[in-house]
Amino acid sequence: MANNNYKNNQNDQMAKKGTVEYCILCGKSTEYTLETPIDFRDGYIEDVGQLCRKCYSDIYKNNNN
Ligand SMILES: [Zn+2]
Repeated sequence: MANNNYKNNQNDQMAKKGTVEYCILCGKSTEYTLETPIDFRDGYIEDVGQLCRKCYSDIYKNNNN
């Protein structure tokens, strides 16, 4: 998957595929849909929800200080 060039197009594609998961911290859409198995996701925290990459890495950094 391309990293930099998928802003708007990616969101459109996701919306057609299924409901996108939104980051529980910043509210941004993530690359995952509700149909994505939790095992395949990065940034999913059990009993909390899905985080975007940025928030997830922020939390990870803080915890591993
Ligand atoms: Zn976020």
